[in-house]
Amino acid sequence: MSSCLQAGTARIMSATVRHTGGRWHVSFTVQVTRTIRTPAYPPRTVGVDVGISNLAVLSTGQVVPNPRHLAAAAGRLRAAARTMSRRQGPDRRTGRQPSRRWQQAKARLARAHARVANLRADGLHKLTSSLAGTYGTIVVEDLNVAGMIRNRRLARHIADAGWATLRRHLEYKTTWNGGRLITADRWFASSKTCSSCGAVKPKLRLRERTYTCEHCGLRLDRDLNAAINLQQYVARSGWETLNGRGADLKSTLVVAGGCETTTPHHPPGGSDGDRRPTATRVLTRAHSTATA
Ligand SMILES: [Zn+2]
Repeated sequence: MSSCLQAGTARIMSATVRHTGGRWHVSFTVQVTRTIRTPAYPPRTVGVDVGISNLAVLSTGQVVPNPRHLAAAAGRLRAAARTMSRRQGPDRRTGRQPSRRWQQAKARLARAHARVANLRADGLHKLTSSLAGTYGTIVVEDLNVAGMIRNRRLARHIADAGWATLRRHLEYKTTWNGGRLITADRWFASSKTCSSCGAVKPKLRLRERTYTCEHCGLRLDRDLNAAINLQQYVARSGWETLNGRGADLKSTLVVAGGCETTTPHHPPGGSDGDRRPTATRVLTRAHSTATA
């Protein structure tokens, strides 16, 4: 960032100071002029299934585990909550003030919460940057609203929250990298469909971790089967026929554009030929500077 400032390609527009989770944060709003990059393998398509036990499973068979130390941090979270509940907190009815040790425990719990959130955010950023920098087309499933309402378990909520963040990151990162993000139709049964023969199961319980096909005998990890289906979605739904010459169709195919911190600017004349367009955007970087 500082090198961009020195080269004159970045300009700080504003700065905001916050105090959350026991840390001070300074956010800079920066205007950056940067050349749009291209993914390493533009013709390749990858399907991404956001899992519960793992951060994501890719159609390539790659399993992206949850970041290390996340479980340990979650354990500390529980311990901190327990400690706080055992100390004397405020009581509105009697007007009792909280004890100093309760306030300490409360601050520790807030820091533990922030750490879990940071670890998760970091893992999602690394995954989405790697995906957008590698593949020309990324396919994710639509959020299963009905399934979310049916299953109120915490794990599912966390997975759904991860899904929403993953999609938001992929939207702007594919735009930056000149790739495209495709969201499978809401009714596309990525989990229930056999990735080998295309047969669709009427029902697949969440606890069934292995997909077993009654028609062709396929036995495959549930999430990997879903990821492969997402990858094949592009060919099945006719997206492929539109993918003749990337550049001209990019702007219409990318489902992105809804990024709150990005204002892509296309130079007049459109993106024709070999000219690599530049984009001016405003992005926010957070720097934690001190621990309280
Ligand atoms: Zn099958």
